[in-house]
Amino acid sequence: MGKIQIMDEWLSNKIAAGEVVERPSSVVKELVENAIDAGSTSIEVFLEEAGLTSIQVTDNGSGMDEEDALKSFSRHATSKISKEPDLFRIRTLGFRGEALASIASVSKVTLKTSDGEHNGLEIQMDGGHLIEKKPTAFRRGTDITIAQLFYNTPARLKYLKTIQTELGHSIDYMNRLALAYPEIAFKLVHNGGALLQTNGRGNVQQVIAAIYGMQNAKKMIPFSAESNDYKVHGFVSLPEVTRANKNYISIFVNGRWVKHYLVQKAIVDAYHTYLPIERYPIAVLYIEGDPYLTDVNVHPAKLQIRLSKEQELLPLVQNAINQAIRSAIHVPVAEKKE
Ligand code: ADP
Ligand code: MG
Repeated sequence: MGKIQIMDEWLSNKIAAGEVVERPSSVVKELVENAIDAGSTSIEVFLEEAGLTSIQVTDNGSGMDEEDALKSFSRHATSKISKEPDLFRIRTLGFRGEALASIASVSKVTLKTSDGEHNGLEIQMDGGHLIEKKPTAFRRGTDITIAQLFYNTPARLKYLKTIQTELGHSIDYMNRLALAYPEIAFKLVHNGGALLQTNGRGNVQQVIAAIYGMQNAKKMIPFSAESNDYKVHGFVSLPEVTRANKNYISIFVNGRWVKHYLVQKAIVDAYHTYLPIERYPIAVLYIEGDPYLTDVNVHPAKLQIRLSKEQELLPLVQNAINQAIRSAIHVPVAEKKE
């Protein structure tokens, strides 16, 4: 008899969890992205001990009916794509249908949800297994709590860094998501203290102020440009506002925060010689284009992306920013001295 066996779903979920759920901030990212995909206008995240004790995400999105709520924890369960062509035209942040199954397999989950039409439902899961399911009074939306993350994967638990480091990763994701979606009101609370709050009024500069401070927000200049295939816009700091690393540069492609070396380089190069050596700007760049031009299916965390027509996009970004900086620093001569 052959030795090869098809692994059961529970085991394969736990293996996938190794890729999708690296640390508490990965859970924050996946849950908040689900809330965004559900059309929420308000999303609140509560962390205890940087998420090691618990991570709670509350949204006012579409919610789920009972059938969907139960299905959502199965592997490859997604409401977002159904046919192969969908994979090349992804407009949602999620599409792999892996996150909830993976997260549930390495934690204890409580989910409350209602689609606003049916009764609310509360589900308890432990290590990927359904423990309890009961009706509950709940408004439209979803509230999900992940407790004791990695309690059944000691190796992963051991690899986690200090509370401060883990919290830093979650703050970073929340900042980027808040910048990506200024029309959503975000709140991040850690051990009872608010760390980030945005008003959801759609004003990027107000979000920049909430994250980088009012003084810096005032020194951000807008830019925008368009080519055949791409539209770019955003804000970049005046050359006098600089940072020691590139972490203050955020690039969003169709609403998704991405890391893209060449686009980042185009932003920095746009400053030409105006930036001191080894100093970098604060920048928020939104790129919009047909989803057909972007391939997000490179890695489970979807932070890397492949872009078509780079030779069109890179100069578009660089020129738009360069022009905005030039006109901002050349006009008011008096301000230049400082
Ligand atoms: P994906 O986001 O890739 O579809 P997930 O495992 O993250 O996969 O979620 C599975 C499904 O559960 C989603 O496709 C969606 O239908 C549903 N879901 C998850 N979170 C929410 C939420 N906050 N509100 C409404 N539906 C949700
Ligand atoms: Mg998802």
